[in-house]
Amino acid sequence: MSIKHNWTRQEILKIYNKPMMELLYQAATVHRENHDPNVVQVSTLLSIKTGGCPEDCGYCPQAARYHTNIKGNDLMSVTQVKAQALQAKSSGSSRVCMGASWRNVKDGSEFESVLEMVRTINKLDMEVCCTLGMLTENQAQRLAEAGLYAYNHNLDTSEEYYKEVISTRGYEDRIKTIKNVRKTNITVCSGGIIGMGEKLEDRAGMLVSLSTFNPHPESVPINALVPVEGTPLEEQQLVEIWEMIRMVATTRIIMPKAQVRLSAGRTQMSPEGQAMCFFAGANSIFAGNKLLTTPNPNINDDMRLFDKLGLTPSKPFINIMKKPVTVEAVDSKFNSLGEKPKWTRPKHTIERNENTREKAKQTKLK
Ligand code: SF4
Repeated sequence: MSIKHNWTRQEILKIYNKPMMELLYQAATVHRENHDPNVVQVSTLLSIKTGGCPEDCGYCPQAARYHTNIKGNDLMSVTQVKAQALQAKSSGSSRVCMGASWRNVKDGSEFESVLEMVRTINKLDMEVCCTLGMLTENQAQRLAEAGLYAYNHNLDTSEEYYKEVISTRGYEDRIKTIKNVRKTNITVCSGGIIGMGEKLEDRAGMLVSLSTFNPHPESVPINALVPVEGTPLEEQQLVEIWEMIRMVATTRIIMPKAQVRLSAGRTQMSPEGQAMCFFAGANSIFAGNKLLTTPNPNINDDMRLFDKLGLTPSKPFINIMKKPVTVEAVDSKFNSLGEKPKWTRPKHTIERNENTREKAKQTKLK
């Protein structure tokens, strides 16, 4: 099957709404044609800087304004990150994704530390991914030089619904950062979250945005919302496993080569439900007791499930791009420019997000 970059919402909805057995058969067929169905990548998501974020993403307990009870921490040291990466590697992870609760990357000592973390993990022969917020082209080039394999920047949902979840930045800002990453040899990781109150059309809309990128993102995480007390989306109903299976299968069919990642929300899924997601084309999970700040299955439970299903964790660099070469800081061709990414800030607020902020303030005053 050739790779298509002009999917429409109608075409995607038609796939999403197929009878389940038909959908599973088609997705599993596409999956087998493009990937080894018995290999699933285990990735580790490390929160290198937690909490205190100035953004207002309605699903996120790390947004400072909601005052959830997560424990924040400053940027970890390179030594701490190396120790955690080694531990992840010994448990079968071939990829480490480092997440920092920043609005955007700021040139300076913290970014220099992150670059050193990237160099360090790349030298451990693991795929290194970062999710640091918006970044400029120069910052992307510097990450590429350090040996970054992937940059994660999720679109979250459709362009229309995005405005109902986040008001502190616009969809076009997300696209801009992804384009900056594409100007380097770093692979793109971008996906979204279901269960935020969006319609099926929004799920399809997000998949249109992702699948009309040429090339497609090499990695597409599909998350189920984990509603966290104290966030504006705390009362959302959990998504049914069937919705996750449909979303994974549809993603697999329209972006056949992508690594489809079964991400947040796995603690809400049975082993059988997860197995169906693997059958439908998911070929990566995140390991570790926490996924940034939300709960995640224990690695031993994951490995038991792998055993039962005859799945093998993948080695690094088997997809698309070879291991990047790390350029040491002294040999760097790209210097810090002291830039800040420019972003649009749509002039609207989200009532639900503002109410939550007010409630958090009042609770603090009591
Ligand atoms: S999702 Fe990221 S950008 Fe949004 S509030 Fe959380 S940490 Fe900040």
